[in-house]
Amino acid sequence: MFNQSSEAQECCTFYCQSCGDVVIKDRKLLRVLPLPTENWGALVGEWCCHPDPFANKPLHPRENDCFIGDSFFLVNLRSNLGQEPKANTKVICKRCKVLLGETISSETTKFYMTEIIIQLSERNFPIIPRSQFIQSVIAQCLVELSSARSTFRFTIQGQDGKVYILLWILNSDSLVIESLRHSKNMKKFPLLEDALKADSSSAQNAIKILYQPCLKSRNEELASSWESDISIHALTLPSATCLELLLILSRSNASLPQSLRQMNSFQVAFLKM
Ligand SMILES: [Zn+2]
Repeated sequence: MFNQSSEAQECCTFYCQSCGDVVIKDRKLLRVLPLPTENWGALVGEWCCHPDPFANKPLHPRENDCFIGDSFFLVNLRSNLGQEPKANTKVICKRCKVLLGETISSETTKFYMTEIIIQLSERNFPIIPRSQFIQSVIAQCLVELSSARSTFRFTIQGQDGKVYILLWILNSDSLVIESLRHSKNMKKFPLLEDALKADSSSAQNAIKILYQPCLKSRNEELASSWESDISIHALTLPSATCLELLLILSRSNASLPQSLRQMNSFQVAFLKM
C-alpha cells in the first residue's frame, strides 16, 4: 500500500479495522520510514567516542510522515484534532470503542497495526474478517522481526504490560489446507467468525509456531525467564487483541490431529499469512 501511494502521491485514509470507521481522513504521506529498534540508543552509546547526539531526542513524525515500529505506526495528529491531546492517553474508535492506540506526546500518536487499515483514499477495499486480519498482520510482523533480529522467540504482551502468550516460531514456509470435516471443532469457538466460509480447500501460506498461554498465572516461571532474556523480543498489542490471538491459536491447535497438537509441553499452531 505504501509503495503505491508514494509513487502516485495520493492521500491515504486510516480506518478502524473492527468497524470501518474513518480515523484519519486524506493524509498525504510523503515519508514512510522504519523506526530503529528500541535498543538503538544503547548501541549508539557503545559505538560513539563522543556523547550520544540523539540522547533524549525521541523521533517524532511530522505531518506527512508515518514511522513504522515493530507492531505500530507513529503519525502526527495535531492538525486533526481541535485541542492538543495529552500524552499517554488511549485513542479509542469513536464508533466501536475499540482501543486503536495511544498518544505519545502532544503531536505524536501511536496506532497498533492490528487495529488499523491504511488504504488509498476513495478506493474500495474488501472487508477482511477480524481473525483473518489479526493472523496475517501478526504472522508478517513475526516473520519480519525474526529475520531482522535473528530471534525466534517472542512474548506477546498487552498494552498493560502483562504477558499473554509465549511464542516460538518453528518455520515460516508452511502450507495449510483446512478441510470441512473439522467444522465440528470450530463450533467450540463461537467468538471467531467461520474461517471455513472462504476458500477452505485452497492451500495458504502459514507460519508454524509453538505457544504457551500465560493467563491466570499459567507458566509464570517460564514467562518471567523469557521476559528477562534479552534475546527474546516483546511484541506489544492491545490486551483485547492478545486475547483474540490466543483464541485464534487455540482454534488452530484444536484443528490439528491429536498427535500433532503438542511438542515439548508447548502447543502447536499455525498462523496464516
Ligand atoms: Zn471502530
